[in-house]
Amino acid sequence: MLNIVLFGPPGAGKGTQSACLIDSYNLVHLSTGDIFRSNMKEGTELGTLARSYIDKGALVPDEVTISMLEAEVNGNPDAKGFIFDGFPRTTAQAEALDLFLKSKGIEITAMLALEVEEQELISRLLERGKSSGRADDQNRDVIKNRIQVYETETAILKDYYTAQNKFVGVEGVGSIESITQRLCKEIDALV
Ligand code: AMP
Repeated sequence: MLNIVLFGPPGAGKGTQSACLIDSYNLVHLSTGDIFRSNMKEGTELGTLARSYIDKGALVPDEVTISMLEAEVNGNPDAKGFIFDGFPRTTAQAEALDLFLKSKGIEITAMLALEVEEQELISRLLERGKSSGRADDQNRDVIKNRIQVYETETAILKDYYTAQNKFVGVEGVGSIESITQRLCKEIDALV
C-alpha cells in the first residue's frame, strides 16, 4: 500500500499536485483543509468550530483533526493507498497517524515535501485568493500567520520523517507538469 504524506507550507501546491497524482497511482486524496471547508459550507458543528481557527490562520485543535482524519481513512476501507494533504501538521498528529496506521497493519511510505520560498508562497496565495473564495487566502496578515504557524509547528515534521528514513525533498517551483514529474520520479523509486 502506497501512503504518501504530501507536505509543504501553505501555497506550496499540495492540493494541485495531489489532484495530478491520485489517478496515476490509484490513491485516495485526503485533504484535512478540504474536509474542514466542506463542513464549513454545510454549516455543520465541526465546520463552525473549524472556521473559528481557519479564518485566523491558526491550526484546528489536534484531537478534532485527528479523529476527523481517522474517520475518513476508516470510511475508505477499499483504498489502495492514500495521499495525506495538509496532515499531519503537528508532532502529535504525526505520532497519532503512525499509531493509527500501525493498528491497521499499514504505514506511511514517504513524506514528499514541496520546497518553495516565502515570497513565492505569499504571491501564490494572494493570487489564489482572487478566485478561491477562501477568506484565509485574501488577507496578507492571515497568510503570514499561516506561514508562521507552519514554521513553528509543522516544519519540524521533516525531522520526524527523516528519523524514519522517509523524508524526500522536492523542488516545488516551475510548471505544474514539471513538479508532477519530479514527484512521480520519487514515487516510482519507492514502489
Ligand atoms: P489547507 O487547505 O491545508 O491550507 O488548510 C486550511 C486550514 O485548515 C489551515 O490553515 C488550518 O486552519 C486548517 N487545517 C487543515 N489541516 C489541518 C491540520 N492537519 N491540523 C490543524 N489544522 C488544519
